[in-house]
Amino acid sequence: MSFNCQIEAVAFCRTPYKQKFGIPRQPGLVGAARGFVELQAPYNHIDAVRGLEQYSHLWLLFSFHENLSQGWKTTVRPPRLGGNEKLGVFATRSTFRPNGIGQSVVKLHKIHQKKGSVILEISGMDLLDGTPIIDIKPYIPFSDSQPDASGGIAHEAPHLIDVAFTQEAREQLEAYSKLEQYPRLEELITGVLAQDPRPAYKKSKADPKLYQVALFDLDILWHVIDDRILIHEIKSGVS
Ligand code: SAM
Repeated sequence: MSFNCQIEAVAFCRTPYKQKFGIPRQPGLVGAARGFVELQAPYNHIDAVRGLEQYSHLWLLFSFHENLSQGWKTTVRPPRLGGNEKLGVFATRSTFRPNGIGQSVVKLHKIHQKKGSVILEISGMDLLDGTPIIDIKPYIPFSDSQPDASGGIAHEAPHLIDVAFTQEAREQLEAYSKLEQYPRLEELITGVLAQDPRPAYKKSKADPKLYQVALFDLDILWHVIDDRILIHEIKSGVS
């Protein structure tokens, strides 16, 4: 049943994640990912975030805006189950859900205020660059943290895979790391790839494919060999 509710973006999120492929599947998995929540008028007033600096973490409620046109599905195949088993949409964190709303806890580093703009500096997000934020709330440990909770199919953090660089990629990494616009680049690349972003069905057999992940405006080219990820090339590419 519909009800009268108009939702608009209060902010937009700027992140190093320029495409969905490679984004961690939950927040907090790649702490080296720094981003910014840019408040939009009429919410871009410092009074709207007065007191927020006392909190170390935030809840971001957001729209899975890139998937909205594809609607929702009653059941989904979570990657954790190898893509073989179906669960109900409300038993998962699927992005294909009624209303397309996501929520993530992120670390708050600083609140910047300059020339009519209010920007929250955050890290650890699992959001695509440009994601519309529909609400921001402080994370309250005494009630939001439930140490005794059972985590269903997602009881533990995902298994990590080793990540290595070819000599050429290592030299490219060192050159890009000197530039201010790529903060904590090595940690970001290894943190993202250690999650092994490939679809589940690719992980069970030999996989010669060359993959690409976009971070900032860089293309990272890699493939899997002997159960580890080898990065071949890091090059400027994404606009
Ligand atoms: N933590 C959130 C939640 O539980 O609601 C998001 C979980 S969802 C499984 C995380 C994935 O959403 C990311 O890996 C990325 O592929 C996708 N994603 C992130 N931002 C998106 C956006 N704006 N539109 C569509 N998909 C997005």
